[in-house]
Amino acid sequence: MQFYSLNRQADSVSFKEAVVRGLAPDKGLYFPEKWAPLPAGFLKEMEQMSNQDIALELIRQFAIDDIPEQALKTIIAETLTFDFPLVEIDQQVATLELFHGPTMAFKDVGARFMARCLGYFNQQEQNSKVTVLVATSGDTGGAVASGFLGVEGVEVVILYPRGKVSEVQEKQLTTLGQNITALEVDGTFDDCQRMVKTAFLDKDLTSAKNLSSANSINVARWLPQMFYFFFAYQQVADKEADLVFSVPSGNFGNICAGMMAAQLGLPVKQFIAATNSNDVVPNYLQTGKYQPRPSKQTISNAMDVGDPSNFIRIQEIYGHSDERLKQHLSSVAFTDKETREAMKILYRNNGYIADPHGAVGYLGLQQYLADKPAAQGIFLETAHPVKFLDVVSPVLEQTIALPPQIAAIMHKEKKAIGIADYEALKAYLLA
Ligand SMILES: *Cc1c(COP(=O)(O)O)cnc(C)c1O
Repeated sequence: MQFYSLNRQADSVSFKEAVVRGLAPDKGLYFPEKWAPLPAGFLKEMEQMSNQDIALELIRQFAIDDIPEQALKTIIAETLTFDFPLVEIDQQVATLELFHGPTMAFKDVGARFMARCLGYFNQQEQNSKVTVLVATSGDTGGAVASGFLGVEGVEVVILYPRGKVSEVQEKQLTTLGQNITALEVDGTFDDCQRMVKTAFLDKDLTSAKNLSSANSINVARWLPQMFYFFFAYQQVADKEADLVFSVPSGNFGNICAGMMAAQLGLPVKQFIAATNSNDVVPNYLQTGKYQPRPSKQTISNAMDVGDPSNFIRIQEIYGHSDERLKQHLSSVAFTDKETREAMKILYRNNGYIADPHGAVGYLGLQQYLADKPAAQGIFLETAHPVKFLDVVSPVLEQTIALPPQIAAIMHKEKKAIGIADYEALKAYLLA
């Protein structure tokens, strides 16, 4: 399969090139040229299939030209080493828990898959050292650090905004060492993201280094997120009900993958992109004007994004027709106050402890379901509440025991290099 640049000023490339480059030379995101829906009967067969077998069928057509089936199987087996349980909240609502991986956020799957793809490409071509540059608003950094740790031939450089990630998140991205380096940036996530984008266009750097990106723009991080939506469907009891997914959204990669899953044949009635007060997309769907803005800091910080990179892919899926898009996507924003309230309600009424991101997803779903008694709603729980203990504990007046994978890193020493601007990043990379 070929992937083209959404800016349409660069050549189409193979899966491998799209993964290695991250972003096209014209700054556009890569997008698959065409895809085939899954064979009729797959949804039925899937009921008896393992997660790994389902994943192989979903990703095959995108990757098979560059990664033969046996290698792809191994990559998937090493990626999907944990569960994705669908947990009932009430009769109409369930949550898909995506936080059972090593860093306890949903980004583990994309990061692990991408790391292993790059590792595979490296094995094929010795001496092709790659430097993976990634900006994080919190969870990406940890997932990428863990996913790429020890992968041969890959250096990982993570940029994160000083003081704007949680303590657990910071530990996850600054304590691993080996091929992982954390850069602590004086600025916001948007500044980090801008610096990464600038680096990709800087000829001094690109002539000296093989740069790649591990942000959700990378097709190897984005596409495996399709798996979740099929895993959820497999666990839904009433397959006839109208299925609605509410996805807490920041860069819109996860929800965009869900919408690709629907393109492959998953029967989804409606997607809801639930955001915090960074409400560029909800505003766009209301007014028709796309107005990126500096990101605002909220308690669901992994979604503090002022210009969501992946929204353009969603528009591409729908041929840039807002009318068609709105038949499948609605988007709504919630304040921190509403989010805290939702966390309390979920805990009090349903005994469920949600993290702030999951709570935003829950709010989006509740609002949509209010007048749709026949629908079955699923909100994605994208992180374990312990990752946002500084928010969750005071709101619920409740402490949460540290799971083993978190307890193991809390006493480790933070190692990060402070940088103030793009020149400092460039100097570090060229040193
Ligand atoms: C990254 C992240 C999100 C947002 O996902 P996008 O794909 O960027 O929309 C939501 N919740 C958590 C916990 C995250 O880490």
